[in-house]
Amino acid sequence: MEPFPLELPADTVQRVASELRCHPTDERVALHLDEEDKLRHFKEYFHIPKMQDLPSVDLSLVNKDENAIYFSGSSLGLQPKMVKTYLNEELEKWAKMGVYGHEIGKRPWITGDETIIGLMNDIVGANEKEIALMNALTVNLHLLLLSFFKPTPKRYKILLEAKAFPSDHYAIESQLQLHGLDIEKSMRIIQPREGEETLRLEDILEVIEKEGDAIAVILFCGIHFYTGQLFNIPAITKAGQAKGCFVGFDLAHAVGNVELHLHDWGVDFACWCSYKYLNSGAGGLGGAFVHEKHTHTIKPALVGWFGHELSTRFKMDNKLQLIPGANGFRISNPPILLVCPLHASLEIFKKATMKALRRKSILLTGYLEYMIKHYYGKDKEGTKKPVVSIITPSNIEDRGCQLTLTFSVPIKYALLELEKRGVVCDKRGKNGLRVAPVPLYNSFHDVYKFISLLSSALDSAERKYSNVI
Ligand SMILES: *Cc1c(COP(=O)(O)O)cnc(C)c1O
Repeated sequence: MEPFPLELPADTVQRVASELRCHPTDERVALHLDEEDKLRHFKEYFHIPKMQDLPSVDLSLVNKDENAIYFSGSSLGLQPKMVKTYLNEELEKWAKMGVYGHEIGKRPWITGDETIIGLMNDIVGANEKEIALMNALTVNLHLLLLSFFKPTPKRYKILLEAKAFPSDHYAIESQLQLHGLDIEKSMRIIQPREGEETLRLEDILEVIEKEGDAIAVILFCGIHFYTGQLFNIPAITKAGQAKGCFVGFDLAHAVGNVELHLHDWGVDFACWCSYKYLNSGAGGLGGAFVHEKHTHTIKPALVGWFGHELSTRFKMDNKLQLIPGANGFRISNPPILLVCPLHASLEIFKKATMKALRRKSILLTGYLEYMIKHYYGKDKEGTKKPVVSIITPSNIEDRGCQLTLTFSVPIKYALLELEKRGVVCDKRGKNGLRVAPVPLYNSFHDVYKFISLLSSALDSAERKYSNVI
């Protein structure tokens, strides 16, 4: 999907170690990789939580003034330092001039969303006219499905991946119900093979080939929130469209994480949230994409005044002049207080570029994988150490920055111990742990520290809770 660095991450780690004449797991390797990292100063643009401020930290185990190890960017990105400044600019404007703020200043409120849209197109690989910044993810998914899902007696199914994010699952169920369709028959869910955690592309393509004639919409996520699997968006899109289906993607975990080329891939529609890798804060402004080819054929099902052309919008004559394409899907006036944090974050992306971020990310996550395999790989079975398995695909083309780990021991106590040591990651399911080193603000040394804290957390959990485990 994207050009890869010539060297695989594990080879880089080993090469650096041999140059430094140390073992690949030596701290010096991490420090060296940080020195070589051209993006290392980008973390200065963010507030990194301190140990002393985290609710679950045990201050006797950590240096309270140190930064926490924040690996939860997959749930909520950290705050760019400029957020406060930008929010203040708009609060000041509001305080000083009230309604005039709609048309004046750096971000006239009427076009607040449009003032930052030029910072988003490279991130998703789209023309400005193909994207709109509005609402939240699930709302946008509903609005897009209302236009793209037009079931007929022969073509009435929606195809999606197993264990889709609950909100997407419910959105699809309720869209089917809106059309009076039977959920069992119309919701086609692809499961991984028996004993496997992630889906194989060949299996997805086979379902599309066999059942595509009855599928109206294929709705996949770009990256699966739990397994971290990155789906082959261009291949799924091409296969689906060859069968006459519309193909859309939920990019919640892909946007700001991997390179996307929605326009070139010919994706029909897509939506995303901005508070995960795009760091816009909880409940941040969502995004939607409608491919240029649908500009004059696909129309919003629900219309509001911000879908009306700006030049005549305020004539208020109730004669709709709909903006063609994605921006016609906007219903209400843009929430300027949500535009500000996203603005601060997107400026950082612009400076860093997705290409450079992805390059670092591949090595950063590859280093994490290397260290986990070294200390907790399957070959450690039989020793007393717990085994940690990585359910995220090992192929770098099939994942973003997140690795999902499962443990051979109950993870509950070990996680408590990790949290006490200032590691912030995300527990899912009975023993799954989502670990997401983010190239904008995480370092190789963060990964190094994570690995050593994991080991002391597991030891401590075993000592303290061995009778309960
Ligand atoms: C985070 C996430 C959501 C959240 O939806 P909101 O409408 O923003 O609350 C939905 N779908 C997926 C796949 C997600 O990862």
